Amino acid sequence: MSEPSEVLTSVLTCMDHRLAPLAILQLEPEQAHVVRNAGGYVTEDAIRSICLSQQLVGSSRIVVLHHTDCAASARSAEDYRALVEANTGVSPTWDVEPVGDARERVLAAMEHLRSSPLVDSSRLEGFVYDVDDGSLTPV
Ligand SMILES: [Zn+2]
Repeated sequence: MSEPSEVLTSVLTCMDHRLAPLAILQLEPEQAHVVRNAGGYVTEDAIRSICLSQQLVGSSRIVVLHHTDCAASARSAEDYRALVEANTGVSPTWDVEPVGDARERVLAAMEHLRSSPLVDSSRLEGFVYDVDDGSLTPV
């Protein structure tokens, strides 16, 4: 059981194998709920997971952790849509998230979280992890 002073963190990050979010953020497994998807974007499901983490378990801190050289952000939204449609015959029904450098994507994700009435974003932080040198930069 957690000590009252211990802060539980919701981490929203990319599914990229080069990221070990707990190690990067120096968190123990019991200190975080890690929500991962392609790009670490604020999807409906990411909001659901963070909301339930806050409402059911009492997490209070949110960290958005994106990284350099992210394949999920390397093409335009139109390119992704065309790629998926060409290979599957189906146009994706999900929104294709904004691209840009990692810092811009973290800022967009933080803004998206702040705009959600389902999420308490009063303790929201963002970071960029550099996959080449292992550095972590606050946004
Ligand atoms: Zn990525």
